[in-house]
Amino acid sequence: MEKETAVKNLDRIITKIEGARLNISEHHIVKIIGISKYSQASDIETLYNAGQRAFGENKVQDLKLKSEILEELPLEWHFVGHLQKNKINNLIDLNPTLVQSIDSLELAQEFNKKLEARNKKISCLLQINSAKEDTKTGVLPEEAIRIYKQILDTCPNIRLKGVMSIGAHVEDKDIIRTSFKTTKKIYDELVPLGAKYCSMGMSSDFELAIACGSNMVRVGSTLFKD
Ligand SMILES: *Cc1c(COP(=O)(O)O)cnc(C)c1O
Repeated sequence: MEKETAVKNLDRIITKIEGARLNISEHHIVKIIGISKYSQASDIETLYNAGQRAFGENKVQDLKLKSEILEELPLEWHFVGHLQKNKINNLIDLNPTLVQSIDSLELAQEFNKKLEARNKKISCLLQINSAKEDTKTGVLPEEAIRIYKQILDTCPNIRLKGVMSIGAHVEDKDIIRTSFKTTKKIYDELVPLGAKYCSMGMSSDFELAIACGSNMVRVGSTLFKD
């Protein structure tokens, strides 16, 4: 990826985000996570030089590989994929900034146990399967509040910071909007309990997600495209 392309991609995304967030409020700040799962470390470095600092991966081994290659850069790493139990310790060792994909109470408790054993605390989001799709992991919307509170009560080494969701995988914008609104409503109920991030929106739907209240977007293909 050329530096010029990286600057252009980032500018285009920031301009769209500015439009979407100012429609809500000038105080509504949106954080961009560059999802680098289909990209090489060299492209991440190019985007870093264009001004992007936060990146995300969906496989522990890829996060390890790329973060080690780029360890000299002051990057922020997010984990956004389904976490297998046998990879928990490897992920903890990488000290990610935010694990966005805690997708069950069972995983949270296992993660917490491993964190306790290492005397560490890591910030996490609870993933919600707001469109109730079989192909996606995450807790069901009607169970989200209860499970979020249970994690707060039983997992002292998890710093729970909010929720993450993937928009409905359909063409119909109204259905996608409904899935985002479902997540936002849950997030609003969790703000009094300390929730800070409502992570929703990807390359194809981040403006719609922001219009529905997202304050963290995860953009991959549109940021890294040549
Ligand atoms: C891949 C991925 C993204 C980015 O998807 P794009 O459509 O390429 O922007 C965002 N969130 C998660 C959880 C992902 O796995």
